[in-house]
Amino acid sequence: MEEWQRLLAEGINNAKQWCEEFPDQDPLVAKRVDDVFQLRVNKYWLDLMKAKGSPVHLMKQVAPDERELLDQTGMDDPLNEEQQSPVPGLVHRYPDRVLFYVAHQCAFYCRYCTRKRKVSDPESISREQVKRAVDYIAAHPEIRDVVLSGGDPLMLKDEPLLDIVRRVREVKHVEIIRIGTRIPSALPQRITPALVQELRKYQPVYMMVHFDHPDELTPEAIASLNMLADAGFPLMNQTVLLKDVNDNAEALAKLFKGLLAARVRPYYLYQADITKGTNYFRTTVMKGLEIMRQLRGYISGLAIPHYVIDAPGGGGKIPMVPSYVEEWSNGKLVLRNYRGHAYEYPEVEEDPEDPVVAVRNSPWGRKGKISGCEGIDVD
Ligand SMILES: *Cc1c(COP(=O)(O)O)cnc(C)c1O
Repeated sequence: MEEWQRLLAEGINNAKQWCEEFPDQDPLVAKRVDDVFQLRVNKYWLDLMKAKGSPVHLMKQVAPDERELLDQTGMDDPLNEEQQSPVPGLVHRYPDRVLFYVAHQCAFYCRYCTRKRKVSDPESISREQVKRAVDYIAAHPEIRDVVLSGGDPLMLKDEPLLDIVRRVREVKHVEIIRIGTRIPSALPQRITPALVQELRKYQPVYMMVHFDHPDELTPEAIASLNMLADAGFPLMNQTVLLKDVNDNAEALAKLFKGLLAARVRPYYLYQADITKGTNYFRTTVMKGLEIMRQLRGYISGLAIPHYVIDAPGGGGKIPMVPSYVEEWSNGKLVLRNYRGHAYEYPEVEEDPEDPVVAVRNSPWGRKGKISGCEGIDVD
């Protein structure tokens, strides 16, 4: 058994083990929560929580909470993935890319998981399902970007994982593969030299990692990121904005700067989805915008992710940007910088023949306002 498999086996995998580890917590809640969505904390993460004195920002992510059961707001499938799934396990929402669900399991279960409806299922995904998904990708030449997701693709053993990556790579029109994984923060021991050696044969493979708090950037986590970066995998991070976990500019600035130093580019900061039983993790959108405003300018632009709402109903990711435009009229903009100082920017006149401008009336054009300035129409 490899070390990462031992850490999983020696961790908490059910309510009984949770209660043995945390005897001061309500066993009935643990049992009922575990029945709805499995409790799992592997030994690496458990030791990390304990070493840090089980602080709320690590504990809340994985601990059973009565509010999970009481909260009836939200939906089982807030992003409407099942409706946008042409074959089981594949979500084709955007024109040129798909999300390919390859594993149910994770190294621990985030209580705020957006795919609680299917993640943690003990069944493995059938060869038939994988085959149908690969066939779909092969039959659709517009697909040039395949995001392997789950669950966590790196919870598969090397061979089944490499088999899927190899088959996707064999499709001529697939340009890039991404692997969405929480492994470098959740179970960094899974990133072994053997895995990295094999996986790098299928470059370009982007590793979309997931860190939510700076305390997750342990020496082990950083070592796993270094191994991946050294092997040429571009590293991007996705963070979920979570109440009492990371919902302040100090924690996120520290996280994003720490990631950059580990050669990981912060990519998305997600507003929490409206998944049933996760309402107690949600912050207001205004708070998210305010945090973004408190980051921009103060830390490297490279460290600033896109703050997005994944639209309920399956509309995809919609960027949320604090407005720096105060006025936009009479051939000039009045802008405020990150410190709140006002600056004027004079405009040139618009060329109606400009093909980019003409796009407004084409299929690429949109109904929404293009101005960053509330209430002002540019047209
Ligand atoms: C997030 C997501 C993608 C990738 O989106 P990018 O903005 O390109 O990172 C693709 N498909 C689905 C269904 C997604 O949820």
